[in-house]
Amino acid sequence: MVFMPEPEASALRDRFDAVRSRLENAAKASGRNMADIRLVAISKTHPAPMLAELFSYWRQGTPTFGENYVQEALEKQKDVASLLVKSLNGASLPEWHFTGHVQSRKAKDVTGRFALIHTLDSEKLAAQIRKAVLAENLPPQAVLLQINIGGENQKSGLPAEEAERFIDAVRGMEQVRVEGLMCLPPFSEDAEASRPYFAAMRELREALRTRTGLPLPHLSMGMSHDCEIAVSQGATMVRVGTDIFGPRQYA
Ligand SMILES: *Cc1c(COP(=O)(O)O)cnc(C)c1O
Repeated sequence: MVFMPEPEASALRDRFDAVRSRLENAAKASGRNMADIRLVAISKTHPAPMLAELFSYWRQGTPTFGENYVQEALEKQKDVASLLVKSLNGASLPEWHFTGHVQSRKAKDVTGRFALIHTLDSEKLAAQIRKAVLAENLPPQAVLLQINIGGENQKSGLPAEEAERFIDAVRGMEQVRVEGLMCLPPFSEDAEASRPYFAAMRELREALRTRTGLPLPHLSMGMSHDCEIAVSQGATMVRVGTDIFGPRQYA
């Protein structure tokens, strides 16, 4: 399918294949199955035709895009859908996840428009998502709890030690379904530096499963530079942007 000029399109396919094989090798090395690891292509700042191109090439697993900015994401959802409907008769569409910070007052713009919100980090936001579900009579919104696993001052996310109390506070809301945990560890050029944080996330999820009795099936962690390490530590979703789409240019 031609949504982009050829040299760029084939470079995109090559980068995607390279990321897939890195993940497959990492899965194999830790005795895991690729079918249990969702690749979320983080597409913020990249144009709709590039996403349509990648969608039409995507093999194995559900094509999934993660976006960080509400306005950009909603426009792109429409643009990608119309490109695909035109050329593929809309046989299928990508799954969209929201991976950016959500301000409580923007909850109504994301609720029901993304299959999964990776970044629930306050009771106020949970309450606003619930309100949006009720107002529009939507199915329950699936979310992940963002954990500030490095305890960094400037970063969003709940402190790990508050996660259990938080789950107890929101589990009564049937409109908000907590499906697991997400983290962005402190950034380091050295991917190995992420390992202890990913290991801590794996342990936190185990502890929370035992204490809350919830299945918490998902662990969203790992980006371009450290996704293999995340897979070795049990990630069920990895969020890869740059290594698939190339560098981002911010307007
Ligand atoms: C941008 C972003 C990514 C992708 O990062 P890359 O280093 O480009 O792979 C992953 N997760 C979140 C939450 C992001 O904002």
